[in-house]
Amino acid sequence: MSESAMSESGFQLPVRTPWFERRNVGDGITLLTEPAVHRFLRCNIWLVSGRDVDLLVDTGMGIASLAAELGDLAGRNVLAVATHFHHDHVGGLAGFARRAVHHADAPLLMAHADDKRSLAVGDIPAASRARIRAAGYVIEEELFVRAIPDAAYSVETYSFQTVAPTQLLTEGDVIDLGDRSFEVIELPGHSPGSIGLWERATGTLFSGDAVYDGPLLDSGLESDIRTYVATMQRLKKLPVQVVHAGHDDSFGSARLHELADAYLKTRS
Ligand SMILES: [Zn+2]
Ligand SMILES: [Zn+2]
Repeated sequence: MSESAMSESGFQLPVRTPWFERRNVGDGITLLTEPAVHRFLRCNIWLVSGRDVDLLVDTGMGIASLAAELGDLAGRNVLAVATHFHHDHVGGLAGFARRAVHHADAPLLMAHADDKRSLAVGDIPAASRARIRAAGYVIEEELFVRAIPDAAYSVETYSFQTVAPTQLLTEGDVIDLGDRSFEVIELPGHSPGSIGLWERATGTLFSGDAVYDGPLLDSGLESDIRTYVATMQRLKKLPVQVVHAGHDDSFGSARLHELADAYLKTRS
């Protein structure tokens, strides 16, 4: 590496602003992503604009302020829901006054509150790296980011604030936005308190990391393959029109069945 490409702190990265990319996907739903974050940790952040309440599904890495990005929602009643406790989904949660997490993942969220975070691929323990690779992810980069949100940002000191949820969710809870509503469905396996948010009226499912169109992860410490198998069987029975997942592209019923069947074939 040449000197000009190396800052005093080790890495020199371009500034990306705005940090988040927004895309209107129709039906009152906006997708926000962090394009400068490696695909492995680039979670989908979904914003559903309701009449009385705006629902935010997951909050990204906490590298730049999601709450500031969503400043146009100031004065709105926003409920931020984390589909599960993993750090690529809860990084921006502290920026919101109303925060909901499933009761089984809330203790895990708090237990990991003081974890040392890092954006350096090399800081991931070798065993975890091997599991991630075995699942199908290729990570050749040194860093999980290829840009920073402002010139003063230091990738070496990445961290975010973790605060307790203000609401604990369980199976069957209804999140009422005024003109539409989502039901909490438990989809454990990836984590014990992984949830989906299901709008029966439109067949829309926010699935978190229970299912997405990429390599699924079930080998983490808090994962459980047996319950994941049951989750896949449950997902196959849902009359979905569209799945907006925790990572990668959205998909419909046929692809959901393919993904569930592929998982069940290897795990049951
Ligand atoms: Zn996850
Ligand atoms: Zn994830």
